[in-house]
Amino acid sequence: MEKPRLLFIYSDTGGGHRSASEAIIEALEARFSGQFRCEMVDLFKEFAPYPFNRLPDMYPGLVRRPRGWKHTYRLIDSPRRVRAVNGAVWPYVRKAAHQLVRRHPADLVISVHPIANAPLIRALQQQPSAHRRPPFVVVVTDLVSTHAFWYHRSASLTIVPTEPAATRALNCGLSPQRVKVVGLPVAARFSQATEGSDSIRARLGWPPDRPMVLVLGGGDGLGPIEAAVQAVATSGLRLGLAVVTGRNRELKARLEAGSWPVPTFVYGFIDQMPAFMRAADVLLSKAGPGTISEALSAGLPMVLYSFLPGQEEGNVGYLTGHGAGVWAPEPGDMVAALRRLLEDNGAYQKAVAACRSLARPRAAAEIADILMLQLR
Ligand code: UDP
Repeated sequence: MEKPRLLFIYSDTGGGHRSASEAIIEALEARFSGQFRCEMVDLFKEFAPYPFNRLPDMYPGLVRRPRGWKHTYRLIDSPRRVRAVNGAVWPYVRKAAHQLVRRHPADLVISVHPIANAPLIRALQQQPSAHRRPPFVVVVTDLVSTHAFWYHRSASLTIVPTEPAATRALNCGLSPQRVKVVGLPVAARFSQATEGSDSIRARLGWPPDRPMVLVLGGGDGLGPIEAAVQAVATSGLRLGLAVVTGRNRELKARLEAGSWPVPTFVYGFIDQMPAFMRAADVLLSKAGPGTISEALSAGLPMVLYSFLPGQEEGNVGYLTGHGAGVWAPEPGDMVAALRRLLEDNGAYQKAVAACRSLARPRAAAEIADILMLQLR
C-alpha cells in the first residue's frame, strides 16, 4: 500500500513558516518513522503568479515600512474583509492554486501560511468529485495577535499556539470543535540537549568566561540590529555578542566591517539555532513568534527590542506579562535590561523559570499525533 502523502504549504516570508513545518516533519519522523511521505511546497516561489511570487523577496522591504504595513494589516483584519480580498484575488491565483493541487496530490494538506488557506481550500473543493478531498489542517504560526486571514471555516482543523489566538479563531467564526490550542511547533533540539553549552562554545570559538548575548532579527535579519549591537558593545558590560543576520547580507557585511570593543561574532543564516540558543545566556531579538517559542523551549531569557506591527504586536505583552522577557526598544533600555539579567542571578533564574513554564516543547509531537488522527 502507498504511504499517505502529507503536503506542507509554507513560504520563506520570514523564517518562522519553514521552521514550523520542519519541526512537525521531524516529529512525524520521530514518532511514525517511514510511515508518511512529507513534501514542503513554497506557496509563493513555486506557484504564485507575478507579482505574488515576488512576495518572499519583497517581504523584508514591506515590513521595514512599519506604518504602511500596520495600516494594510489592520485594514483587512476582519473576516468580512478577508473574504472580500480573497474573492477579488481569486481570478488571478485560481490557475496557480489548481496547478498546485493537481501537481501535489496529497492525503492531508497542512498550511502554515495564512495566505494559502482560502485559495487552496477553494481549489480543493473544485476538484472533480472523483478525487477524495484531503483534510486541510491549518497550523497558525503567529503567537498572540493573529490575523483574520488565518481562519477559514472550511478548514478541517485549525491548530493555534495560545488561548488568545483561539479566542480570535472563534471570533472569526470557527466552530470550537475545529480549533485546538496546542502550541507553536519547534524542533525537539531546543529542549533536548545533545551537547553541553561548554562544548558548543568551544566549537564556535565563543569565549568561555563571558556571558554571551545572542542577537537575532528573524530569518530576514530585521529590526534595528545595528543600533542594538552598537549600544550593547559599547555599554561597558563584560559580555560577548553572537549576531545572526539571517538572509540580510548587507547587514552582515556592515557588521563585519565594524570593530567592536567586545568579542563579537557575526553570522549569516545559520542552521544550528538550537545549539546557539543553548550556548547563549540571553537573547536580544525582535519579537518573532518562532524565535520566541524556541527561546522559551530552550529556557533562554529574552530582551525584545522591536516587533512587526500587526502579527507580532501581542507577543511583547504576552512575554513580559509572564516575566519571560523584557521590552527594551531604546538602546539605554536594552543595556539596563541586560545588566539586570546578567548581574542579578535571582532575576535571571526567575526569567528562566518563566520561560520554561510558558514553553510548549511538545507542541510539534502533539501536532504529529493530531495529523495522524486526521488520516484515519
Ligand atoms: N532562523 C534560522 N536561522 C537564522 C535566522 C533565523 O534558522 O539564521 C529561524 C529561527 O530559528 C526561527 C525563524 O527562523 O525559527 C524565525 O522565525 P520568527 O517567527 O521568529 O521570525 P520571522 O523570520 O518569521 O519574521
